[in-house]
Formats: sequence, structure tokens, C-alpha cells
Amino acid sequence: MSNAEREPAEVRCGPAAPARGVQVLDPRDVPLGGPRAMHVRRTLPHRERSFVGAWCFVDHYGPDPVASTGGMDVPPHPHAGLQTVTWLFAGEVEHHDSGGGHVVVRPGEVNLMTAGHGIAHSEVSTAGTDSLHGVQLWVVLPEVDRDLPRDLQHHPAPPVAVADGVRARVLVGELGGHRSPVRTRTPLLGAELELEAGAAWTMPVDPAHEHAVLVDAGTVRWHGAALGPGQLGVVDAGPGELRLESGAGARVLLLGGEPYQEQIVMWWNFIGRDHDEVAALRAAWQDRSARFGEVEDYPGRHARLPAPTMPGGTLRPRTRRPGH
Ligand code: MN
Repeated sequence: MSNAEREPAEVRCGPAAPARGVQVLDPRDVPLGGPRAMHVRRTLPHRERSFVGAWCFVDHYGPDPVASTGGMDVPPHPHAGLQTVTWLFAGEVEHHDSGGGHVVVRPGEVNLMTAGHGIAHSEVSTAGTDSLHGVQLWVVLPEVDRDLPRDLQHHPAPPVAVADGVRARVLVGELGGHRSPVRTRTPLLGAELELEAGAAWTMPVDPAHEHAVLVDAGTVRWHGAALGPGQLGVVDAGPGELRLESGAGARVLLLGGEPYQEQIVMWWNFIGRDHDEVAALRAAWQDRSARFGEVEDYPGRHARLPAPTMPGGTLRPRTRRPGH
């Protein structure tokens, strides 16, 4: 999806000193534009944190009745310097991109798009979709990989039992001996977990990685902290195992990865290393540069998305935890 904020701020992201315990991040509500538009719940980037591993953007939406929101119709828009992961709990979204990629994304299927040097894509919910419910995640590409050619990976992620009362679908990385075929550029974990009522799992994790749980439905205790729907609970690198307990049953997304150490600037749908780079990406999109290419066969109703106006003044400095 496109970051549809009317006046997106330029966000400078970087690492910060680790803390003990669980950092609980509440989502902020972001309307996607239009009078009856969908809203998303955004937990990354957050005022108090930029990354979980290389995950740098977490939007969670729905379940939304398409009859009242009109569904999703995101016209062609650009990305650069990142990968996107589309994951649905309900509904179907038709994806077209300027690399010739065309897929219908369905629940249980992971869709990882590499923007790299530049891509354009559109996303439109299908006519048969009556409810939309899912997440849109972005992965920052490290300096050595940020000019990769555009690419699309699409794979089913079948459910596997990882513990008593716990089923996982592994989007990226490896969990409980099950490895996703999706390729990433930094060590990364993404999995949907369904927990039966009263389920408890002490999961072994790489102590060099940081991990987070995003609650979709139900409530959980995560490394001792209570989390409800929409909240993201983050544990810094250190522990070799983490405990997840459900109350009356829950569905969550588990995210993890090697702490990301590079400084970046995020603005709109771009990741660069400084203001001038992001401004150049914006100009390239506005000029219809071949850098992003053209989306063929977009089935929606709108013109390609124009870039918003860039904020004036200097960068807003940002750290994961102000005061550290
Ligand atoms: Mn997008």
C-alpha cells in the first residue's frame, strides 16, 4: 500500500540503546484518504522506536466491511529502498507492478515485493471481497542491497504446529524448524501465530535478535507484558527464549530480526539516506522517470498517485527511544 498520510513527515531512523523488558507501542490511527476510507493502525515507525530487526513499517487494518468502506483501491504509486510484505487475514487484493508482477494475494499467502532501485505498483481489493483484514509491512534494505532490481515473490505459508495449542504460518525466516522459501537480505523472522485458549509457549529465539508481537485478535502475555488488539510489544536482543501465553485464544504476528544499525530517512513511500536522496526520488516519480516504470492493467478507478508535498525546513531527528 501507499503511505496515504496527507502531509507525511520525514522520519530519520536509527538504532538506540537496548532496554530491559517489553516496550509496548500503541498504534496511531491513520486514515487512508477519502470520505469513508479505510483506516489503518500504525505501530512502526513510532515516536519511541524505528525498527524491529529490519522491519521498519507496520500497518494493521480491519476487519473492514467493504460495503461501508468501498474496499481498497490504491492506484499506481512508487517505492524505493525497501521491500513490502503483504499479509491478509481476510479478503483478496489484486496486485500489479511495473516489473510485470501480477498476483491475487489471498489469506495464507505471503507476497514480498522488492522495490530496490524503484518500482511502482497498484493494489485493488477483488469484487468478491466483502471484508478486508491484514497487515502491510516494510523491510528496510541495507546499503549494499538498496539498488536491487524490482522483484516479486509469492508463496503459500501453510500452517504448522510449533507447540501445544500453537499453529504458525511462517512468512519469512525460520520458526520451530520450519523455514519459509521467501528470500530476505538480512536475518529476519515474520510469522502468524494462532493460539488456542490457555496456550503457552516458551519459544527459543536467537539472543542476538530483537522480537515483537503484534496482536490482531484476543489478548496475550508476551515476556510478562499484557498486550491487547493493535498493540506491538517489543523485546530487545538478549533473551534466548521468550514466553507467549494466550488468554481466551489469540492471533498474533511475530516479528524479529538482527538489529538494524544504519541511519535512514523515510518519507512517504521511499527510504533514502538523506533528505536530498528522498527529494530526488520524489522528483523522479513526479517526472515519470523510468526509474519506477509503468504499471500495466491497473484495474482501479483513479490516476497514478501524485507525491505529497515535502515538509519544509530541516529533518526531524528521530531515535528509537528519546532520552537514551
Ligand atoms: Mn505500496
